[in-house]
Amino acid sequence: MSEQTLFSKIVGKEIPADILYQDELVTAFRDITPKAPTHILIVTNKIIPTVDDVVAEDEAALGRMITVAAKLAKAEGISDDGYRLIINCKEHGGQEVYHIHMHLIGGRRLGHMVGS
Ligand code: 5GP
Repeated sequence: MSEQTLFSKIVGKEIPADILYQDELVTAFRDITPKAPTHILIVTNKIIPTVDDVVAEDEAALGRMITVAAKLAKAEGISDDGYRLIINCKEHGGQEVYHIHMHLIGGRRLGHMVGS
């Protein structure tokens, strides 16, 4: 069993969060510091630290992240205008929490994909 992370404590309901969706593979909740009107994090229930750590058996959970993102985008009313899905990896990618997660960001026109 891997060491707990901030997000595994949210998955296990040990730390409160605004959880929007949960199944056997992933959990989605609102980001505590939203960067846009909709900013949701979709995390794997299994603790996978980074994209660099994924293995073939994780493919179901990683695919589920995208189908859940699409469902939540529709529920948020942002799918017609579009949105952005981001997975940061390690230091150069700007990853802060080492438990794999996808950002679903939308509700306004977003800026350049990569900042300076
Ligand atoms: P990263 O930089 O690792 O890709 O993204 C981490 C995200 O987690 C950030 O957008 C940050 O605002 C969010 N975050 C950090 N701590 C918490 C927390 O305790 N609760 C929630 N809901 N989001 C958090």
